[in-house]
Amino acid sequence: MDHVTRRNALAERCADLEVDALLVSKLANVRYLTGFTGSSATALVGPAGSVFFTDGRYDEQSRHEVPDLPRVASMQDPAGAILEHARGLGVQRLGFERQAVTVAQFERWEERFEGLRLAGVGEEVERLRWTKDAEELGTLRSAQEATDRAFEDILDLLVVGITERQAAAQLELAMARHGADASSFDVIMAFGEHAAEPHHRPCHRALAEGDIIKMDFGALVDGYHTDMTRTVAFGEPVAELRKVHDVVAAAQQAGIDALRPGVRAADVDHASRSVIEDAGYGDRFTHGLGHGVGLEIHEGPSLRLDGDDIVPAGAVVTVEPGVYLPGLGGVRIEDAVQVGEDGPNPLGVSTRELIEL
Ligand code: ZN
Ligand code: ZN
Repeated sequence: MDHVTRRNALAERCADLEVDALLVSKLANVRYLTGFTGSSATALVGPAGSVFFTDGRYDEQSRHEVPDLPRVASMQDPAGAILEHARGLGVQRLGFERQAVTVAQFERWEERFEGLRLAGVGEEVERLRWTKDAEELGTLRSAQEATDRAFEDILDLLVVGITERQAAAQLELAMARHGADASSFDVIMAFGEHAAEPHHRPCHRALAEGDIIKMDFGALVDGYHTDMTRTVAFGEPVAELRKVHDVVAAAQQAGIDALRPGVRAADVDHASRSVIEDAGYGDRFTHGLGHGVGLEIHEGPSLRLDGDDIVPAGAVVTVEPGVYLPGLGGVRIEDAVQVGEDGPNPLGVSTRELIEL
């Protein structure tokens, strides 16, 4: 795991940010920079050196996970140790993650960090995380494989009378069977008219002939999330939903085709959305086109009309157009796609054609 390269990349940003070091406290970012998987940690990262701080519970775990950094594992508030190490590294101006720090934490640091000037910075580590390295891509592929296999399994288990909750539980079990550590997020399992809600919470609705089934799920492996949606028909679907499935599939393909290194995220959204608009369903596509996936289920770049993110080579983003028709149902098709130098590479292999069970 090349945490050193990642920390060096962040340390190089310090000059531009006009700070001597960054105090990283968002856990996904700490994990990215150090390999630590626990629930309490802070990392001080800068050109003069880096130090890892955690609490007493994680002394032993961090000894294994973070073998290459000076480590402080203490039952006391880490502020004192952070100040001491920052001084030792000659830090005067200390950056912190504006998006991740509460006002209370900031006030505590201001009180404790005597002689340091605190400077809020934006999503610097997140921005590095947009581009996945080979190891991250490998992990995402394993997670996607578990997701694809679980999808195959669930198709055999969808029978008349099974409830959304039961089917969601079966899907989670199938992901675990294929190597998932956990679900990336609560499975969305929506039957019939419930598929009109983009984020339906599975309930006791039982599956019946003629229902459309919308499933949004993903396996979590080694901290990396996957995210896939398929909409399948249970028996003969309503004619309009069959047509909508064709529209959404074409819109998704247009979005995937638009994914090139350096493209504006808003242009990718537009490429996909215009297919749905041309078909007359523009007002029924009520969310952004997609998002990055990795150590967080929703990260950057964000594919949305009103955003100004630029998609870098090596990003992995979802492309997930949807059309939702109240009372009738809805269709969403979602895949994670790696943005290669030569073009888009979807990670999954599950068919995007309408499956009729
Ligand atoms: Zn999803
Ligand atoms: Zn998604």
